[in-house]
Amino acid sequence: MEYVPPKHDLDRFNCPFCNAYAHQQWFGASLAKYHNRQNGAFQHGEIIPDLEVKQCASCSKISIWYEKEMVFPVLSFAPRPHPDTPDDITVDYNEAREVLANTLACQGKISIMISALW
Ligand SMILES: [Zn+2]
Repeated sequence: MEYVPPKHDLDRFNCPFCNAYAHQQWFGASLAKYHNRQNGAFQHGEIIPDLEVKQCASCSKISIWYEKEMVFPVLSFAPRPHPDTPDDITVDYNEAREVLANTLACQGKISIMISALW
């Protein structure tokens, strides 16, 4: 079956955790309880606009989405391992793909911070 990458508008795609093509259940996000620094009070049930989570029907893990973009886990643009790759090598390869994605995400954020300083 063809790989279907995670996308906000889809109810089914290949899970970024277990890779199964599975239904993804949408949830809005809210704070159960938080401290309001402006008035010092504890408040309940505040909905966080544009923050959503999806839960995989296969592995139950949750991806986090902000403004319709998946922010966790960070996806790598490095090629996926070939399906015939042995499992032990696939684990190491996928770990390297994740490191690459996180490194590039950090570089992008550092560049934005540096450009804001100049
Ligand atoms: Zn999954």
